[in-house]
Amino acid sequence: MKNRTLIKALTGIETADGDGVKLTRLIGSSKLDMLDPFLLLDCFESDQVEDYIGGFPEHPHRGFETVTYLLNGRMRHKDNAGHEGVIEPGGVQWMTAGRGILHSEMPEQKNGLLQGFQLWVNLPSSAKMSLPRYQEYVPESIGLEQLDNGTVIKVIAGQTDKGTLGPVTNDYVFPTYMDISLPENGCFSQALTKGHNAFIYVLEGNITIDELIKNKGQNNQRTLKAKTIGILSDGEQVQVTTTNQTSRFLLLAGKPLNEPVARGGPFVMNSQEEIRQAYADYQRGHF
Ligand code: MN
Repeated sequence: MKNRTLIKALTGIETADGDGVKLTRLIGSSKLDMLDPFLLLDCFESDQVEDYIGGFPEHPHRGFETVTYLLNGRMRHKDNAGHEGVIEPGGVQWMTAGRGILHSEMPEQKNGLLQGFQLWVNLPSSAKMSLPRYQEYVPESIGLEQLDNGTVIKVIAGQTDKGTLGPVTNDYVFPTYMDISLPENGCFSQALTKGHNAFIYVLEGNITIDELIKNKGQNNQRTLKAKTIGILSDGEQVQVTTTNQTSRFLLLAGKPLNEPVARGGPFVMNSQEEIRQAYADYQRGHF
């Protein structure tokens, strides 16, 4: 099996979105525009209430999916079709915006730590105008695999090599979304579909992964530190090790759509004309 190697490592950009929510943009920034089919990845993490209390008041989406994975704190979601709920720590909301929703995402707390991720996953042109759909999972329904060596794998989407399945279904990009905790001197490997784009984001500790040395055709060991995103080459599996500390990282992969991408704020379509149509529909109250 051909191992995927590290081709690029980068940190995010500090920014703010919604009503002044401080966040780190890891994908969808000037450093990394997108990694098809992933359009955006934001990490929010603060125990300072002023950094998050503004939340994300009502705003529209069209043409893609938003995935919220909460690690700490609580977020209330409410849309204009009457759908409402609270995401708890360890919970996931995979929302297919499709043709459009109007929603708010607000912290359900006035103090303490709020920490989590929002990922935007593109939809193929054939599904951009589909009906909105929610896949919501409480922490207990996320796939959980605990190995004898102390490795803990939470599976939101995809399947581990030992067969643990994530609850999310998606026949557009067949995503993998795992949250992995590795003990010290640990080793983790996972098959990933050849051709899927994949990356790792290190939450805690640091991990070691092979990096291909150009011109020599040899691999070199490279350490990825916390708060770093590592883009992986193509291949059939990924292998990660730890040395003297426990580490936690996200592993994501998905089938690239290879379609033109036109962005307009909260809308992601295939052409500027479709973006103009989205703004027109929004202004006419058609969401
Ligand atoms: Mn939103």
